[in-house]
Amino acid sequence: MNNNIVYENAAQRKTYVGEVYDQGEHKVKEDVLNNLPEEWARLHRDGHIHIHDLDAYGLTYNCLTFDLLKGFPYSSFEGLSNSRKVLRLFEFYKSLVSKVGNEQSGGMGFGNFDLDTATLLKNLGVPEDETCLGLIRDSIAEFLQWCNDSHERMGQVSYYVTLNIGLADSDLSRYICRAVIEEFATLPPTVYKPNIVFKVKDKVNHGEQDPNHDLFLLALSCTAKKMIPTYLLCDCEADRTFDPRDLSIMGCRTRVVSDLFGATGSRGRGNIDNISINLPRLAMEVDEELPEATVDLRVDLFKKKWTAVADTVTEILLDRYRKTLERSVELFPTVHKYNLWIEDFGNAETMAENLKHGTLSFGFIGLSEAIEVLTGKKYYMGSEEYSEALDFVKYMRTYANKCIEKYHLNFSLLATSGELISGRFCEIDKTLYSNKITEKGFYTNSFHIDVDSCIPAFEKISKEGPFHTICNGGCITYVELGESPIGNVEGLSEYVDCAIKSGTHYLGFNFPLDICRGCGNKGVFDSCPECGSQEITRIRRVSGYLEILDYFVSGKKHEVSHRRKN
Ligand SMILES: [Zn+2]
Repeated sequence: MNNNIVYENAAQRKTYVGEVYDQGEHKVKEDVLNNLPEEWARLHRDGHIHIHDLDAYGLTYNCLTFDLLKGFPYSSFEGLSNSRKVLRLFEFYKSLVSKVGNEQSGGMGFGNFDLDTATLLKNLGVPEDETCLGLIRDSIAEFLQWCNDSHERMGQVSYYVTLNIGLADSDLSRYICRAVIEEFATLPPTVYKPNIVFKVKDKVNHGEQDPNHDLFLLALSCTAKKMIPTYLLCDCEADRTFDPRDLSIMGCRTRVVSDLFGATGSRGRGNIDNISINLPRLAMEVDEELPEATVDLRVDLFKKKWTAVADTVTEILLDRYRKTLERSVELFPTVHKYNLWIEDFGNAETMAENLKHGTLSFGFIGLSEAIEVLTGKKYYMGSEEYSEALDFVKYMRTYANKCIEKYHLNFSLLATSGELISGRFCEIDKTLYSNKITEKGFYTNSFHIDVDSCIPAFEKISKEGPFHTICNGGCITYVELGESPIGNVEGLSEYVDCAIKSGTHYLGFNFPLDICRGCGNKGVFDSCPECGSQEITRIRRVSGYLEILDYFVSGKKHEVSHRRKN
């Protein structure tokens, strides 16, 4: 591929429309920054914070789990043959994704893809005969392939789609759940989208006697081959009191559960806006100001600095939210037409009636580097350092909770994935502080343990678990495996058990996946051991999604080169 083309995110493919869009986007981002109060823009420009999706500032919200059933257009299926009903249903899904993809800035979630698709097919009167079941299966395969192949959004990017499955409760929904996993497993390794999330729940699929245990095992065997599905652990400390049907992942990790204005759950709700704070930067400032002070004093100053930045972040989150409320519902034609938000979008008097259900999130990156700068040690190497790390994340959550009370909106704490900021923050900081922290070219994802820590997976899971309980706006833990764990479903299942016990809410497995473009051989290699070809497609997970390594931005390439197995 042409190495002169610079990709801004791993899902991007360049086209003429995309180039024109890019030019517009850059201009819009500059205009937005130029129109913000000087201090806000400065914090973003100088790398203290990152205002995500700046081009969408005040124009739209971030992500959504569709309320799929409420506004479903049954009338457009009237008089169709059963086969055409099936085909049209999946065409409808595609059109939702492609249209809503242009009405909002972030990911889209199907909260219970298996359950809801079964409900719709039943309501449409589609019989469960051999012909229709075959067509349903083929349509699922086509839909998965389409999610992978369509780089259509803004003329260049694939859609961020997440299908949550696993709670199937009828023959048909079980059939759909099975088909999603089997068809995804069967599609070539270069098909690595959409994001599929399997919900693990006791009495449903987790235990050996549970009715969907076969589907859980099937999901694990698919993960062993393709790193997908990932696992939403509904019995973890933070999630166990909720109905698992109300839990889902949207986009790469967003979690939306509690609601000040209604029932808990993610259906018809999403994140409105989020801003990430650069923790290593604040820690390096403390180090400069208090080089000889005790850890306690240094941590105190760190908290003060974070709070000062968070105060401004709060203002920006609120400003963006209020500006989005001024938009007309007509500017969201698909969301409007199919009533995809929780309230009746079509008849809503104001945007606030829906968007008040969304979350405003404080994100963070580089907890590991920050604690190392403040204490001199990695947080996972000593119990005092670990307590400092946990205590600081609780501090941020408490701050978010206070904002809920103060502004009566759904604020939350998000453990940011940060595809772009991992490198952007570090690059800026390197110009100010040249040290071993900035030297490596990237910061560690959210509260994660360093990717080259080499600590055993069970220990990594146990240490990261408690952070999941605190980060109510979304987070994920990864287990880095040296190679594809094919045939070791039991091993993966043990990691899942350990994760649930440790408090982990969302778990993923990563391993290097190289595919020879000459002969299709899979494994981990620089040149193909079968045919000798050096034309290798490397698939890696970045920011929650699988992508082809060649398209990664530089910070993430640095990170990948540091990854070591747990
Ligand atoms: Zn080969």
